[in-house]
Parts: sequence; structure tokens; C-alpha cells
Amino acid sequence: MFSMTKVSLHCKSIAWLFVRHTPTGRLQSFACSEHIFQFLRTMSTNTTDNQHRGSKKPRAPKETLRHVKSREQRKRGVDVHGPATVYAQVVGAGSRDNGASLYVFSEFNRYLFNCGEGTQRLMQEHKLKAARLDNIFLTRMSWENVGGLSGMILTLKDTGVPEVVLSGPPQLEKYVNAIRVFSGPLEEIKLAVRPYTEKQYTDDTMTVSQIPIFAQLREDGPKCSPNSGRSSPSSSPQRRELWRPEDSEDTSTDSRKERATSPGGKAKATRDPSLVVAFICKLHPKKGNFLVAQAKNLGLPVGTAAIGPLIAALKDGKSVTYEGREIHPEEVCTPTDPGPAFIVVECPSEEFVQPICIDQQLSRYQRGGTEDPAALVVHMSPESVLKTDEYKQWMERFPSTTEHLILNEQVCTVHNVRSHKIQTQLNLIHPEIFPELQHYTTKETQAALHVPNVRAECLLKFQLRPKIEWQRDAIPSCDTEEFVKEAAEAPNFLQEVEECKRFRAIDAAVLSGRAEKYPEVVFLGTGSALPMKIRNVSGNLVNISATQSVLLDCGEGTFGQLCRHYGDSVDETLAKISTVFISHMHADHHTGLLSLLFQRERALATLGKAFSPIYLIAPVQMMTWLNQYHDHCEEILSHVNIVPSNVMCEGAEVSKFKTKAFIQALLKISDLAKFQTCPVRHCKNAFACSITHQSGWQLVFSGDTMPCDALAHMGKNATLLIHEATLEDGLEDEAVEKRHSTTSQAIGIGMKMNAEFIMLNHFSQRYAKIPLFSEDFNDRVGISFDHMRIRFGDFRILPRLIPPLKALFAEEIGEMEERRGRRELKQMKEAIAERKEEQRTPNEGETGKGAKREPEEPTQDVGSKRLKTN
Ligand SMILES: [Zn+2]
Ligand SMILES: [Zn+2]
Repeated sequence: MFSMTKVSLHCKSIAWLFVRHTPTGRLQSFACSEHIFQFLRTMSTNTTDNQHRGSKKPRAPKETLRHVKSREQRKRGVDVHGPATVYAQVVGAGSRDNGASLYVFSEFNRYLFNCGEGTQRLMQEHKLKAARLDNIFLTRMSWENVGGLSGMILTLKDTGVPEVVLSGPPQLEKYVNAIRVFSGPLEEIKLAVRPYTEKQYTDDTMTVSQIPIFAQLREDGPKCSPNSGRSSPSSSPQRRELWRPEDSEDTSTDSRKERATSPGGKAKATRDPSLVVAFICKLHPKKGNFLVAQAKNLGLPVGTAAIGPLIAALKDGKSVTYEGREIHPEEVCTPTDPGPAFIVVECPSEEFVQPICIDQQLSRYQRGGTEDPAALVVHMSPESVLKTDEYKQWMERFPSTTEHLILNEQVCTVHNVRSHKIQTQLNLIHPEIFPELQHYTTKETQAALHVPNVRAECLLKFQLRPKIEWQRDAIPSCDTEEFVKEAAEAPNFLQEVEECKRFRAIDAAVLSGRAEKYPEVVFLGTGSALPMKIRNVSGNLVNISATQSVLLDCGEGTFGQLCRHYGDSVDETLAKISTVFISHMHADHHTGLLSLLFQRERALATLGKAFSPIYLIAPVQMMTWLNQYHDHCEEILSHVNIVPSNVMCEGAEVSKFKTKAFIQALLKISDLAKFQTCPVRHCKNAFACSITHQSGWQLVFSGDTMPCDALAHMGKNATLLIHEATLEDGLEDEAVEKRHSTTSQAIGIGMKMNAEFIMLNHFSQRYAKIPLFSEDFNDRVGISFDHMRIRFGDFRILPRLIPPLKALFAEEIGEMEERRGRRELKQMKEAIAERKEEQRTPNEGETGKGAKREPEEPTQDVGSKRLKTN
């Protein structure tokens, strides 16, 4: 048995302070307290679990998930044997936008190896059930591998998974503590870290051994480059003087107190970039099958009660004597499967090559080793590693029966098929506003390997049992022609597109040559709560000029979206981003920041440009998270020049010289006249921002908020307002409860502001393809889609896109309207019932059960179920 190191549940004072002061006075977790019923439906096997994030009433104890129950039953059972079906399946193939991750399935357990940003989005799209995930293995403490873990943990918590065990580097414990800064308390899910020092883990499926591999650090050259990942090496920026909360403009003492607990005000760094953990997974043996026909031939009492004990003994490999005749197990049973082994190894850079190649435990699974050779070795290694002679020779030391699966940037596969599909269809409406998605192709050449090997593709399977074989049937296809055909078949779609084109032709003539290229807004994520297949979470790129860009919010997977939007020019795009604004500390608005920073560092190095930190305008709590990550996981602080959001508010005093200098620099670099923030009505420390360019245009971004007068004031006469519209009209109560806006409320603020144009975004994931339109939509309002790209010259055309959009998504709109109809009918009935009740017992009416109840979720569930059957 293994023991587990329990992660301490105490909250850091600052984290506690942050989560405690949500405006509704209740603890807030993860994202924007948005419903995620749709996600849970696909991710959970427990269909009765209607829980969603941010439920107002205290939750009833969750019913134990079915698989947890069946596991308990198996434990009680006598005949424990290995699983009948086991396969390893690629989730992220290791491309730059979808880092390497591997899902392992058995009928008893599910595992995930590495969880970079976007992993849960892929799992949702491809229906890999997260609810069954209770073991996550991490090969290295790098953001590439853990970037999606915080979101995944929160989703598992919401799904009702009672416990998740994280195996790998011991720093995982610190990581789990650090994410509490923004996740809030995680009491509902038991999180345990099983560091590599706990060598073995066994469950119903297999035994997993953790093999620590320490880099061989060269004394002269640079230390190992943990950020280079499975990509080209990057230079590490010089470590600069670090920003600490005590430097902040924020006067709250809590952040200081927290720092003061560590000697000298600086926490002891526990990072270890020199460690990777390899995993050797050995399946339990599986007893042979009892062959009935043979048994009958040999005269065994098949079909009678006497056969039971005989079968049990034979399957256990014992000979039996029946009616004086000795019967050997091999006569009536297929042979026992001893249990194949597979190895998952990450070799991020050359410093790890030798330590991996000489590792004794790994070599036991090679030719001449003490164990049966591995059936599969999964290599999460860049081409630069595969090209070294030492690594090649190491691969060759496995026998020819060992298969090699390689996950790195040298892949050619489409992961986000649904995103490609919708973009292909939208592209028919307007090719510039909805540009085709791109692929990033690595510049590295493929290593010439001397052993047969397979390059990873999304959903490629390697089956370990019953039969060892590659399976390609799940690999998704991305048939552009089919997508186009499907759109063309939507009633009236093509006519509406023609109509729109006619208008564009006239408009182009009117504009002729006067259309400015900049500013340009690229919507990278337009959904709320958690990344889903069609809409990713918040991220808006504002290209101010040919050389300068500002990013407004950076939810998980924002870099992946950038990569798919810009393809091979993603490095140039990253190099232009000088400033990032994070509206608030909900995970759907900021957990993509670290990828962006690391990838930007790589981009600058690739382009031969000097490294410079990014100006980060964010709530002060951001620094608590970054400091903790920096101290215990990876160097990050040198990437940012922080400007706390509160000092950018109108009338705020900026006392720190450094902060003043940062503000001046960030304005100057982007030719901005003003960058202003204002507090909004969402959670504590939630801000909107306004950017005014020297040439006069003004762009306002709401972040998440209920209708907010301060925002309308700050953005008076703005050129463009990007406002959240999480919910449809009619869900005002829910919007208040969750501190969000409805469509009409968002438009109302835009009108009050007298904004020239209003773009709505941050839609609930229940409006996956398109939100519901409200009565007050007018020619100054547009709706955003992921990968939509607009310029100020597009304001006239944007409302013209709505008829073709309505035609394309007519079915979805119809279903949503039906749902709304049912909800309204229910509300009406309830109101009537209430009236009757009041008339009958006038004094008790106030406390009536149905009073002031929010619209119930099940109406939508019915709709969703129907959707599912279509
Ligand atoms: Zn949000
Ligand atoms: Zn939020």
C-alpha cells in the first residue's frame, strides 16, 4: 500500500480574503458562477447530477458516482483480476496549440498523463469522460503540462468526483495551494499529491512506478531550459528585481502579512526545473478464459453447480481431478495474459537525454532486461532530443515488439474540429470578418529514427488489451467540403449570404480606400465559465497598429486560439503584445496568462528580438498567484511589469515611482492617450477598462459585470464597447444572482454610453453557437464569435451579418426559443398558483414555497436532452 501526502487545506490569508468578499457574500469558485450543465452532461456519467457552479442553495450531498460505487464493490469481491479492455489514447498530440496529453482507459479506471491548457476542452469535444478521472500523472512541473489542471480540478469538483490524486513532481503540492488563490476553497474534492518518492501505486487496472530523472546540468552553459518544452530552446530572460505585493499600491495589510511569514519577506523557492518523472505502467495479469466446448469434450460437468469451483481452480492455473481424470488448465483455458507494460517519458531537452538513457529501471524493460519488454513507449520529446545519437540508441535498445509513440510539435492533426467547422461555415458569410483558421507548422525537421514509430494524432489509440494493436477509427476527420455543404443546405442561408454580399459591394464603394486597417479586434474567446468546443473563454486581442497590440483578458487556451488564428505568424503576433489587461480573478479570464507569457518569450527569442516584460494591468490578487507559482513552480515574475488595476481608476493617486513609470511606458509604446479602469459590479476587484488612442478612438471593455453606471460614465461616446451578455433576456434574476448582464442590459449600457457600436460577448455556454436575440437589437449591436475579426470600418456591415447567421443557426435558435417559451409558461403557471395561494391564505403568501424562486434549470435540461437525440 502507498501512503499519500495530503495537501493541507488551509487557505492563505490573502486567498481567503479574496474569495470571502464576493459581492453576494458567498464563496465563489472558478468562473463567473456560470451554469455548466451542458458540460457536466457530457463529462459526467451521473446523469442525475444537476449541480452547477454557483448554485445558490447549499448543495445536497452528492450521490456517489456509479463508478466509485462499483469500485467499492470490486474491492469487496474475492476474484480480483485485471481489466479486459485497456487502451492509451492521444488527447493533445503535442502541437504548439495542443500540448501532449494522454488518456488511458480501462473499464475500471481512467487516467490522464499531463494536462496542459485546452485539455479539458478537447476532452469535452471528444467525449472523454472526465467524471471517471481520478488519477492525473504529471511528467514535469511546467505550465505546458499543468496549465489546464486548475480548470480540470474545478470541473471534476463540480462533477462530483470525490478525490483526485496527482502524481509526479513534489511541487504539485505547492501548485495546488497556489491555485486556491483564485479557485476559492476546494473542500468538496479531496486532492492528494503522490510525489515520485512514493514509488508505486496500484489499483484495479495496473501498477504505476514513478521514475525520477534529474537533468545533467552543464556547469558552463545555461542551466536546463525548463521553458523550452517540446519545442525549440529559448533563452531565459535575466532575472530582474521581483515585484512583491508589498510594492503594490494596494494598502491592504493582508498581502504584506502573508509575505512576512517567510523570512526576509521572501518565500523560499522550491522550484526544481531539473526534474522530470517517467511512469512505468504495468497492467495486472488477466486470467485466461474458460473454454466451454473443450471442457464438455473432456467430460467436465458444464452447466451444473459442480463446475464453479472447478473453473475457479483451473483459471487460477491449478490442475483439477474430475471423475478420476486429471485436467490441466491449458487444456480448457486460454493462457493467462501476464499484463503488458507501457512507459510514458518526457525528455524536454538534451540535459535529460543521458539520465534517461542510463536509467536502470527503464532499462529493465529493454532487450535483456529483467522484465518483459514494454509494449509501448510514449515519448513526449522534441525533435532536437530525438535527433541525438544517444536517444536514438536508447530507443533501439527496446526490442522490435515495442511500439513507439511520439508526441511533439512535429504533428499533423486537427484537434479542435468543431471550431474549424463553425469557422468554415461563418467564413461563407464574410471571409474577412471570419477568416479561415490556420495551422502552425514547426520549423524543425523530423528526426530520422531507426526504429518504427508512430506520430501522434488526436484520439489515436494504442490498445493494450484484449489485443495489442493501433486503432485509428476514433481519429476525427475535418472535412471542409462537408461543412460547407451542410451550411448550404440550411434554408435561406445562401440567399441571405447573397443579400449580405450585395450590401458589402455597395458599402465598399462608399468606403473606397477609407477603411482603416487599425485598430482591429480579434475575439479569441467569447464564452463564459469554462472552455468548450465552440466557444473558448474570455480573450480579446486589440491590434492597435501594425506593431502594437493589447490583450484584454486571457482565459485558458487563449494562446491556442491565437495559434489557430494566426498559424505561422503567431510569433509575430505575440511579439507585438506589449500590454495585457486582466479584468478579474475568475479562472475564465486569466488562467491562459502563463502560456501567453512563456510563448511570447519563445517568440521573441525565435525572432531574434530582445526580451522585454509585458505590462500587466490586473487586480493585485494576481500577484499572489504569480508569486506563489514563481516561488514553487517556474520562474515567471521577470515576464511582467505589474500595474494594479485600482491605480488606473479615475482620480487614483499613483504613489510608487515604478508604477508611474510603467504607466507612462505602456501608454507611450502603444501611442495611447489614456488607459483607464473602473470597478464594476461583479466580484470584488473586478474592473472594466477603457483605451483611448492618440488618434481619438476609444475602446471600452466591460469584463464581467451587471449593468454598471460607472462603466457607462467611463466610456461616454466611446467608439466601440465590448460588453458581456452572459444571459438572454428573461433571465434577469439569474443574471443578478450571478452578477452578470442580460443581452438587453448590455445594450442598455451601450446606449447610455452613446457608444458608436456595441459588440456582445461572454455568452453562457448554453448558447454554444449563437445567443438568443432580444427585441432591442439595433444597427449598433453585433454579436461576437471566436476568431471573429472586426475593424471600425465594419460597423455598418456587422448588423447585416445577422440574417445569414440566423439562417445558419435557425435550428438552434428554434430550440432556444422553445425552451424560453416553456420557461415563461412555467413562470406564468407558478405566478397564477401563487396568486391563488395568496387569495386563499392571504397572510402566508410571503413565505409560499414558490415565491421568488429563480427559473429552474430542468426546463433547459429537457431541451438539451432533446438536442442530444437529434
Ligand atoms: Zn467570466
Ligand atoms: Zn467572472
